[in-house]
Amino acid sequence: MMNYYVLTLFPDMIYNGCDTSILGRAIEKKLISIEAIDIRSYSQNKHLKVDDYPYGGGAGMVMQAQPVYDACMDLQKKIGKKPRIIYMTPQGRTFNQTIAEELSKEEDLVFLCGHYEGIDERVLEMVVTDYISAGDYVLTGGELPAMMMIDCISRLVPGVLNNEVSADIESFHDNLLEYPQYTRPETFMGKRVPEVLLSGHHAKIEQWRREESIKRTLKWRPDLLEQANLTKKEEEYLEKIKNSQNL
Ligand code: SAM
Repeated sequence: MMNYYVLTLFPDMIYNGCDTSILGRAIEKKLISIEAIDIRSYSQNKHLKVDDYPYGGGAGMVMQAQPVYDACMDLQKKIGKKPRIIYMTPQGRTFNQTIAEELSKEEDLVFLCGHYEGIDERVLEMVVTDYISAGDYVLTGGELPAMMMIDCISRLVPGVLNNEVSADIESFHDNLLEYPQYTRPETFMGKRVPEVLLSGHHAKIEQWRREESIKRTLKWRPDLLEQANLTKKEEEYLEKIKNSQNL
């Protein structure tokens, strides 16, 4: 069971984004739980204000330390131990499958979502254990990155995917992108499914899929190949396609 807690100014965004399809079923089956905690409810301001102008001037507003701190302490008390508190920030290390695998071993994960110009640095120093980014671009808030991480990590929680094997032969497993997939009909607008997939010959299909994985990793993400786990025969195949123009 994985328990996610999202500290946010927009709890509906989290609930609306996580209650359908595979995540929705995982919640129903009690394999995961998602609680969105409204940081605003911890404001001590009579107008429930949670942000203020930045010291030193500059554009935008900054989320204040006190509501974030109180929300974190309350949550820590409820969980009964110090959980990992992940601040979603473009300044953090970029999220990837390896980080997802590591985090999927936790029982409780807390996501702290900033908005506006971000959160007062002092509270971040006091509560945050991990700084994680969705990628090298700036969004309006941390909610989408938190949902993206929840989605990715949940696929690794046992029982969430019906087909247990599908999580470990996908893209990034072995540092290769996944091979192309096809389903019925055999011919679509004149384009046929590769014959080998209709052959029923499992070893040949397996070899074709590995080769296609290597081919598209070379084409789209050659950086991954340095860490890829290839057999000697596959290394030879890679050299061969590197030397041909036909990718
Ligand atoms: N001023 C901040 C900076 O330059 O680092 C950016 C603030 S951004 C407009 C508002 C909030 O969105 C951030 O506090 C963070 O929680 C979230 N956010 C924006 N881009 C993100 C990204 N690439 N990954 C994760 N969170 C992001």
